[in-house]
This record gives sequence, structure tokens and C-alpha cells, in this order.
Amino acid sequence: MSEFWNKKINEIEPYVAGEQPKKGEKVIKLNTNENPFPPTPMARVILRTYDIADLRLYPNTNSQEFIEAVADKEGVSPKQVFAGNGSDEVLALCFQTFFEKESISALPVLTPEFSYSFYPVFSRFYDVRIIKVPLKEDLRLDADDYIGIPNCGIVIANPNAPTSRSISVEDIKKICKGSPDSVVIIDEAYAEFSDPYETAVSILPECPNLVVVRTCSKSYSLAGLRIGYAIASEELIEGLNRAKDSFNSYPVDRLAQTIAAAAIRDEAYHKKCIEGIIDTRNYTSEELKKLGFSLPKSSANFVFAKPPKEIDAETLYKNLRSKGILVRYFKTSGINDRLRITIGSREEMEKFIAAVKEEVTNAKNS
Ligand code: PMP
Repeated sequence: MSEFWNKKINEIEPYVAGEQPKKGEKVIKLNTNENPFPPTPMARVILRTYDIADLRLYPNTNSQEFIEAVADKEGVSPKQVFAGNGSDEVLALCFQTFFEKESISALPVLTPEFSYSFYPVFSRFYDVRIIKVPLKEDLRLDADDYIGIPNCGIVIANPNAPTSRSISVEDIKKICKGSPDSVVIIDEAYAEFSDPYETAVSILPECPNLVVVRTCSKSYSLAGLRIGYAIASEELIEGLNRAKDSFNSYPVDRLAQTIAAAAIRDEAYHKKCIEGIIDTRNYTSEELKKLGFSLPKSSANFVFAKPPKEIDAETLYKNLRSKGILVRYFKTSGINDRLRITIGSREEMEKFIAAVKEEVTNAKNS
């Protein structure tokens, strides 16, 4: 609390990111869904040869080089792509651009009961009312639950976080068609890890109210670079640009634009990394099941697993932390019986499984 802060800053509960270890601290970091593979080898080439004199100059306001790379890959026009400083910034601008400010007449935004915990923070920060739509058994999202509820917008992570479950593109189309006057934001931070791969970009021509938000942080291993993007109709992208140019005209720096464009164009490397993650995810899921965990089939680069009855999620989280293994635990009622575990390298996951096995065995014997 501070008398110098305004009412909103005094009242808001900011988003809390997963623990970042201190510099030099040796841990196995499976708590913020980072990618264990290095970024495209092109990143090193760019950094070695980059003319630092260029850093005198502001970057391109629209991240032209980057949005062209995305447009080429996705088969859309560059005018249908928007880039921002991480997809968190893109999502924040979506809230400001497409959703109504709270008022007596303003309709709410619909979002799943358990989803990315930044959405409720944005809603408070930008004075947008949200309604949390309950999930079904085993945290399944049912598209029909989003039909027939008056709203001014919908925001859904697909695959959902932290549940790891995904819905089909057909279901997304149903949701878009069900609320033709609202903007539907589909946050595809983890979509590239779905198996088989599906993306709502494929239904953009049929859904003029759809915005697909993506990030380079996860499947492109560039969380440290901070670059996210949106793909939508030219009309919706123009709206985002109007919001951006009223806030920060240069959200993506020069180096980030160039490196991220190279990452998008290096499709073969991207595919190889995703295959590696999916392989290790299958290994991790199977091993956890053998140890008595229950978990839904994951479409993301993490699993959301419920430990066997002998050990509760919070105890396991703390015990793993003391062994230098970081996973994510949410205290929220309804999901506080599970852990969200990022898929690291095969070696990290073998160490993780060995540590979990020890914890479960100790708990059974005590
Ligand atoms: N959406 C979801 C569902 C996420 O889990 C995250 C990562 N915390 C983000 C968006 C934001 O990612 P970034 O800002 O790194 O692009």
C-alpha cells in the first residue's frame, strides 16, 4: 500500500510469475514452460554478425521483417499479423482494443474457470468484467457452455493452461459463430505442441471475429527475447495497431525482430524441437502414470498431474523444491491437488522421475 499509488494500483493483485532462480543457482527448472532446446542456430549467426551501429536507430514500428516471416509461414497477408513484446503484451492490447469497459450496460467477457491466470489480472487492470465458465469433469472445456451467454468477448487458451487439454478447431468455430458480434481470442501459446497439430488460423477466413494469439517463447525457445504475435482479419489487426500506437510505438526491439524472424523461417529446426518435446512428454506421462499419478492427455509442453493419494501436491512441490527441482503449484481451490510440470530435456525428466519415485516410495512407507 502507498498513498502515492492510485486506487487501482493499491487494489490490484498482480500476476505472479513462476519462481526465477538466482543467477548461478543450479536447479532443474520445470515451472514456467520454457523450452529445453536452444533457439535456432541462426540466432548465433545473427548475434555474431549484427552491426551494432544499427542499435542507434529505432526499430520498425510494426516489426515488418517479423510479420512478413509469420505471414509467409501461415499463408496470410502481413496486414493480418501484429507483433508485440511477448504475447502477454499482445493479450493486454486485445483486452484494451476489443472488450468493453465495465459499466451498467457492458456485457462480460467469458473465460474458462481454470485458465491462464493473467486473464483475470488484465480484466481488473482494464476494468473489464469477466465471467468464469466452469470446466467439465477432468478439466474438460465444453464449447456448448460458451453458446447463448450474452458477452462482449471470449478469451480461451487452447491448449488450455494449466490443464494442458485442448479443444478442436471445429469447437472454436462453433464458439466464434455462437457470438458473431464479439471478438473471440484464442491464445495458442502452446498450440505447436498439440499432436496432431491443429490451429485456429485455419478457420480465420470463416470467422471474422477471431484473433489467434501466439508466442515465440515456447516452441521457438525464445522466452528471453520477448516476442508474441496475433493473427486475425486486417480490420482486427488495425485495431490492435491503433492501441499499440497509443501506448508504445516500438514494442519489439531490432534484435528481437531479426532473430524471431529467422526462428520462424527455420521450420526444419522448429519441427525437430517440437518432436523432441512430444517424445519426452510421452515418456514423462507414462512414467508418472506408472507411479500412480493421474493426468489428462497433454497437448502442451507441460503436464498437469495429480499425485497418488499417499502424497499431496503441495508436499510434493515443496519436497521437489528442496531437491532443486522447480515445478508449478497453484493454491487455487479446484486445481490445488495437481502439479504443472514443464517438459524439460530427457535427462532432466529422468532426474525428475527418479526424485518423484523416491518421494512417492517414502510417502508409501511412512
Ligand atoms: N498465454 C499463456 C497461456 C501462457 O501460459 C503464457 C506464458 N506464461 C503466455 C500467454 C505469455 O507468454 P509470453 O508473454 O512469453 O509470450
